[in-house]
Amino acid sequence: MSVFENAQKQLNKAFKQINLSNDVHEILSRPKEAIQVNIPVRMHDGKLKTFEGFRVRYNDSLGPTKGGIRFHPNVSLDEVKALSFWMTFKCAVAGLPFGGGKGGVIVNPKELTKHELEQLSRGYMSAISDIVGPDRDIPAPDVYTNSMIMGWMSDEYNKITRKIQPGVITGKPISLGGSLGRDEATARGGYYIIKELVKKKGLNPKDLKVAVQGFGNAGYHIAKMLADDGFWIVALSDSKGGIYCNNCYLNPDLIMESKKAKGMIDNEYYKGSVADTENHSRITNEELLECECDILIPAALENQIIKDNANNIRAKYVVELANGPTTPEADEILEKNGVLVIPDILANSGGVTVSYFEWVQNNQGYYWSLEEVRNKLKEKIIPAFNDIYNIMEDKKIDMRTAAYVRALKLISEAIESKGTEDIFK
Ligand code: NAD
Repeated sequence: MSVFENAQKQLNKAFKQINLSNDVHEILSRPKEAIQVNIPVRMHDGKLKTFEGFRVRYNDSLGPTKGGIRFHPNVSLDEVKALSFWMTFKCAVAGLPFGGGKGGVIVNPKELTKHELEQLSRGYMSAISDIVGPDRDIPAPDVYTNSMIMGWMSDEYNKITRKIQPGVITGKPISLGGSLGRDEATARGGYYIIKELVKKKGLNPKDLKVAVQGFGNAGYHIAKMLADDGFWIVALSDSKGGIYCNNCYLNPDLIMESKKAKGMIDNEYYKGSVADTENHSRITNEELLECECDILIPAALENQIIKDNANNIRAKYVVELANGPTTPEADEILEKNGVLVIPDILANSGGVTVSYFEWVQNNQGYYWSLEEVRNKLKEKIIPAFNDIYNIMEDKKIDMRTAAYVRALKLISEAIESKGTEDIFK
């Protein structure tokens, strides 16, 4: 089953919980707009190579569409559609005045020189420039894209429109109008939620073993925040594999240092891996998911917890920093086994929330302190978590469906406010 079909299944489960008009079903079952682009890049050997990319604006009922850009060899239109769908519900869950969008390019960016990467980034922005804009569609970083790439794209958009418009893209370098705290925001939102959960359940961080799959932006920051707070990090991984230590405390900073020690390839992606760290047992990404831990944090890619391994998950809590790491079949198994899954559209909404703050600061031309950004994030994400937790308990449903119910209330109101179904009844 495709990633987009899986995403739709999650929504259909939520539709059963609330009475909604046909307009809402009809509009939310497909994207508003999807474009496919081909980007020619002159490679360093003189040959011209073309890269295929996509940008999807799923739904803009609540405001301009918002969502990251992924550079990865497995990107497809189906995946970008699913990611833009999740962004639609994530923005509503977080109470932001945004709809959902997403973009991606089929490329392994680690194989490009820095110059080729810049040409590709600028070429992609140029190709999608007709559908993006600070009040239309606002991209941001995602897997294998970073603030440097956002800076190039922002500059390219300004050149095309002959105006300085920092609000066209978020996750920019601070010097180009980026927000303090954006780099850590996805993790920080998840961290605030875990702290609230621990309080609710009366748990002690020191007793809680944590495994994190994916040691990139989201995974590194959450591992560091939790370790600094006394949680017990037992497993970490990246695309080349992972490490596990059941009777010691993994130190995310030291592991990052050891990953950095191998240096960077020309274009600023790390050469090294978590799995190179000495003195720890190596495990595969599949083994990490099934390791003995209390909190499992998938922070890499989709479809990691699936029908075949869901019964082997030993964690009591799964906190989805990645988008779409759990399939609907796996969700059912986890629920039956009493595992609480804090869904992606809530758990990783800290990233888009601080992207919203960046956009607000760009529009105001007035910039906030790091403390202000963190406090504002906390003020938004903790009530959202508690509200969804209460919906889950009241309706006796899983937390993912509860999150969709919260989001659907807002989105459906906006769709119906614009709609005409009643007039024709
Ligand atoms: P990133 O590029 O910074 O890091 C990705 C990490 O995943 C890297 O460590 C990489 O080595 C690892 N990885 C790649 N393939 C893997 C595999 N098959 N198995 C295990 N690890 C693998 O990306 P990121 O921004 O941290 O994004 C990670 C996840 O978080 C994605 O699902 C993304 O959509 C989601 N997310 C990111 C943001 C954001 O603001 N960056 C916001 C919300 C959600």
